[in-house]
Amino acid sequence: MTRYDFDLFTIGAGSGGVRASRMAAAYGARVGVAEVSRLGGTCVNLGCVPKKLMVYASEFSAAAEDARGFGWTVPQPTFDWATLIANKDREIARLNGIYRELLEGAGVRIMEGRARLRDRHTLEVDGKVVTADRILVSTGGHPFKSEIPGNELSITSDEIFHLDRQPERVVIAGGGYIAVEFAGILNGMGSQVTLVYRGPLFLRGFDDDVRSTLANELRKRGIDLRFETLIDRLERSGDELLATTNHGDVIKTDQVLSAMGRLPNTAGLGLEEVGVELSDRGAVVVDENLESSVPGIYALGDCIDRIALTPVALSEGMALAETLFHDNPSVVDYTNVPSAVFSQPPIGTVGLTEADARNQGFDVIIYRSTFKPMIHTLSGRDERTMMKLVVDRPSDRVLGVHMVGPDAGEIIQGMAVALKAGATKAVFDATIGIHPTAAEEFVTMRTPV
Ligand code: NDP
Repeated sequence: MTRYDFDLFTIGAGSGGVRASRMAAAYGARVGVAEVSRLGGTCVNLGCVPKKLMVYASEFSAAAEDARGFGWTVPQPTFDWATLIANKDREIARLNGIYRELLEGAGVRIMEGRARLRDRHTLEVDGKVVTADRILVSTGGHPFKSEIPGNELSITSDEIFHLDRQPERVVIAGGGYIAVEFAGILNGMGSQVTLVYRGPLFLRGFDDDVRSTLANELRKRGIDLRFETLIDRLERSGDELLATTNHGDVIKTDQVLSAMGRLPNTAGLGLEEVGVELSDRGAVVVDENLESSVPGIYALGDCIDRIALTPVALSEGMALAETLFHDNPSVVDYTNVPSAVFSQPPIGTVGLTEADARNQGFDVIIYRSTFKPMIHTLSGRDERTMMKLVVDRPSDRVLGVHMVGPDAGEIIQGMAVALKAGATKAVFDATIGIHPTAAEEFVTMRTPV
């Protein structure tokens, strides 16, 4: 006879929680999952998926301009925000349904409601008590807003996906993934975009050549980038918002998008009451097996605040299910995690930046290429692609691959396989290119900078 209702109970049906739950169920575990909102979590509902759809939507304006050099006569295109939002919502509802089928098909019991721990084996889901041998916390995160007067007038990425109207003017506060992606999205759709970032150059942590290349390209596309700038105060004035900066400038705008990072969703779950250690930022502290300070309580994804990317959460979910329910102890390897920023043009990156490699004591050789992408020889668009390899001189191993340019995310995925395999520059050199592509540049760079 089993003592508990479930072998595993998961709080939060986002990417990582769903993957762990359905794999555990596939391995024979009795699994329950509680979700207070829509299935699929941030990625499906308020992140990767709707964002990428909006990136596609916004890219058509540049495509229409670029088509003229190829002989097309394109009338001035017009964009309807409401159509996009409705179509996007329909697609997301479809994905919510797929997530439900995936879970139910695997035999996972879905409980709709807010879960709270009572003790290390007992939870309440909207008043209903369930017990579980093991508990998984995969509650994700939420946008953080800085404490400035009037900050309630700003929106976050949670709201931008559901605005009734496209803002004609928008101020974006922050210089990370979300800030630059929405700067491109809204600019492409015709909004007037001002991006305000506190440091000297946005995308801190990315390779410096990536950061400066993207800044140049965004400026060329008409985005007003203001670095070393913070918004001190927001006020409403009639129909518009007034954003006062630390330099005393007042920017008149229709919306202010706060994109200043995200914090783990760990409040109100009863975690601390049962002894689960949380970090200063509220993340569940876990060991390499994703187990918290309370044995049997695990956590993964954005709520552990390691690398807030869907594919990382998926790997964590997979590793947990393998370890706990498939007799196959697995840990996630957090090295060489590739990522893309869906800015316009996009960024793709894997491995060490030049600065990180030098700081870690590597003796590096740098290969870098900047060029006009072939499509723009006829489109007339003044845009440069930048590609860069960071190579360890003594071992010849490629430590980092970075790119700003069309299809960067698609290209860097393959480069990530090469880095995972420990490829050397000699292996890159021995690889035959695909012509004519931009990607071939990665295997033809011969002269160090
Ligand atoms: P990021 O951590 O990427 O960026 C946060 C930005 O806000 C930084 O520029 C940071 O500046 C700035 N900031 C933080 N606090 C303050 C403050 N008090 N005042 C002014 N500026 C501040 O967060 P995002 O919200 O953009 O995205 C969250 C995470 O979601 C990302 O880190 C990423 O992991 C994930 N994500 C991934 C995407 C993808 O894979 N394409 C897309 C979107 C999100 P500073 O650098 O100076 O600290």
